[in-house]
Amino acid sequence: MSTATPEAAFHASARWSLGDIAVHRVDEIELPRQTGPWLLPHATKEVLDEAPWLRPDFADADVPRLASHSFAVEAGGLRIVVDTGIGNAKPRANPAWNGLDTDFPQRLAAAGFPPESVDLVITTHLHTDHVGWNTRLAGEDWVPAFPRARYLTSRTEWDHWAAADLDEARAQMFRDSVHPVRDAGQYDLVDVPEHGHEVAPGVLLVPAPGHTPGQVAVELRGSDRRALITGDSIHHPVQLSHPHVHSCVDIDSAEAVRTRARLLEGLADTDALLMGTHFPRPTAGTVRRTNGRYRLLAEPGVDIPATAA
Ligand SMILES: [Zn+2]
Repeated sequence: MSTATPEAAFHASARWSLGDIAVHRVDEIELPRQTGPWLLPHATKEVLDEAPWLRPDFADADVPRLASHSFAVEAGGLRIVVDTGIGNAKPRANPAWNGLDTDFPQRLAAAGFPPESVDLVITTHLHTDHVGWNTRLAGEDWVPAFPRARYLTSRTEWDHWAAADLDEARAQMFRDSVHPVRDAGQYDLVDVPEHGHEVAPGVLLVPAPGHTPGQVAVELRGSDRRALITGDSIHHPVQLSHPHVHSCVDIDSAEAVRTRARLLEGLADTDALLMGTHFPRPTAGTVRRTNGRYRLLAEPGVDIPATAA
């Protein structure tokens, strides 16, 4: 019950209050060290050195650090989960994602979100590390992990993948993590106009294309404060100081750069929180502009130790 080991510390949750909206980070795993140089090949030691504020939380001596977690949001009496990570027992080519066995559902429940209580599951985009806990294994079948929830994603995103020629790894992901939810009639496709689409009181999907064509970010308009959940529009805080550092899996990296610039411009020098879907702890902060570059002024939220499980 104490915060004895670094492992236990990582499995703690954190909570931010925006007034009438609360946001929890629910950890899945810290991604292995080799993920940073693979995902962000231009985030070299020299680039990281130009933003010394990244260390120690967001970068080691020479590589960016990344994590997988969900954000669980309470808004207007609804319980909402934004992205569902990698998932357990999924057959994946990436060894870091293959056959995971974490107690993520217990952590989510400990944060006040038992699976049957969840009303909405927002998928920012249809990539493997954002849909994993959409489903869980029941015997030999993949079934929706949130039995009462409506699952939401943008129609543009859905249509893109429906028309794509999928390689086997991606086809497997759709078979085990997306189609069972669709087949249960639980996936809703949302048209997301430029000014955003409100899916719950104060919770808006806003377009964030580039990484994928129909990706959305999630804007939270609390009574005291605003926040933006990035999805993969900003993979890592190094992209604040260096917005042109792009990920190797961006479908349209020029559009991703434009999206990043627009989102950061809207956050800079306000008290709005930027919450990174792959930012390791402390995960969130405000955006400050100095000498033409952005930086994150971290706000760790209130730590909630991992006592349940
Ligand atoms: Zn991702």
